[in-house]
Amino acid sequence: MSSSAPASKRAVVIGSSFAGLTAAFELRKRLDAAHEVVVIEPREQFTFIPSLIWVPFGMRDPEDVTFELEPVYSKKGIRFINDAAASFDLEGRKVVTTGGQEVEYDSLLVATGPRLAFEKIEGLGPHDGYTQSVCNLEHAMLTRGAWEEFLENPGPVVVGTAQGGSCFGASYEFLLNTHYRIKKAGLEDVAPMTFITAEPFLGHFGLGGVSDSRQRVEKYFDKLGIEGIPNNVISEVRDGEIELDGGRMLPFALSMIVPPFTGVDAVRDTEGLGNPMGFIPVNDEFRHEEVENVYAAGVDVAVAPPQKTEVPAGVPKTGQMSEVMAKVAAQNMAADIQGGERREMPMSEMEAICILDAGNAGIIFKADHVLGESEHPHVMAGPQAHWAKIAFEKIFMGSRKRGHPIL
Ligand SMILES: Cc1cc2nc3c(=O)[nH]c(=O)nc-3n(C[C@H](O)[C@H](O)[C@H](O)COP(=O)(O)OP(=O)(O)OC[C@H]3O[C@@H](n4cnc5c(N)ncnc54)[C@H](O)[C@@H]3O)c2cc1C
Repeated sequence: MSSSAPASKRAVVIGSSFAGLTAAFELRKRLDAAHEVVVIEPREQFTFIPSLIWVPFGMRDPEDVTFELEPVYSKKGIRFINDAAASFDLEGRKVVTTGGQEVEYDSLLVATGPRLAFEKIEGLGPHDGYTQSVCNLEHAMLTRGAWEEFLENPGPVVVGTAQGGSCFGASYEFLLNTHYRIKKAGLEDVAPMTFITAEPFLGHFGLGGVSDSRQRVEKYFDKLGIEGIPNNVISEVRDGEIELDGGRMLPFALSMIVPPFTGVDAVRDTEGLGNPMGFIPVNDEFRHEEVENVYAAGVDVAVAPPQKTEVPAGVPKTGQMSEVMAKVAAQNMAADIQGGERREMPMSEMEAICILDAGNAGIIFKADHVLGESEHPHVMAGPQAHWAKIAFEKIFMGSRKRGHPIL
């Protein structure tokens, strides 16, 4: 693709999930029609990842949690390139795709999320290992198959987040939904449940906890009869068995473990773009710390944990946080291109809302500061949490597929 007329500038967004989609909409809204907005994404569809915890149990099918990206973008005058970024030429200001296209940019947003680093733990993961995942739709469908097999041959269940992981909410939600389904199926006696996590204590969530989240989660686990093992390191996974650091063996008939995260290969392979883990260092404008016309938003942003933990545990970057980052980045990209007000949002001031669904109830945690002490933390437990998660899904999917980012 060659450059357009001289006055026209091009903003390119890499990745089209929570962060990329939001940024593309925001850029199109802010930029004059003379400027071009381009999105590069290898998936044809948007997936509402938060609902993947329900897919294994048949509560959602793929068509319930996805929509086609191309029609949404073309309606809004955004150019969609269905391809993946293979590398970035930061000096030449261009992206090279795996399909061989060279896409020049004036301003770039990298929103490529995490790479699921299953290979860091032997035997982990649905492809070369023995554990399941719900981190993307393909994995959630494989977990559906594993759940169906489990119902035929039930036994112990192990759920958790591996060392180096950061998406703790997903493993809590999958655990609680699995517990709910096991109870419904009357299998509690034959399916004891264990939760293993890199967090220093249950309810830490990579944030140091929210209000009395530790006590609440511990009490909830006691009530449900779930053993929780924090500060956990997985040594190896074998067929039907997880070995923990220290030698304890956890047998399983079903296991879902959220893997460690790194940045994606295209970022890791571009010198000067990411840190050694492949996450992108940004300032309070979500602009790259060193490279002027490059921004990042979402899970691929480098965020230092508020406290050092015994076992490496990353800071969670939720969908809602990813969208806030994307809006801030897009506003500043638009200001670079055609002028206008700039915006800063230090991570320390960002709020996080986490809904832990438990099948027919759950807990909502709201921290007004993701990093550091929350002044007005809020915790609410009960069936409202389950309904809040469903409302989040319905409002998000309904609005985004029509091109209206209303949340
Ligand atoms: C099971 C589960 C439940 C969750 N529940 C919640 C919840 O209830 N609420 C909440 O707020 N958050 C939740 N989250 C977290 C939420 O899903 C993430 O915060 C969000 O998906 C992050 O968005 P993102 O755009 O940064 O990255 P991602 O969603 O990971 O998307 C990255 C995108 O970049 C694309 N990409 C990757 N590499 C390239 C490349 N080289 N070139 C071009 N494109 C590329 C990918 O295909 C993908 O579309 C949950 C996560 C999981 C796993």
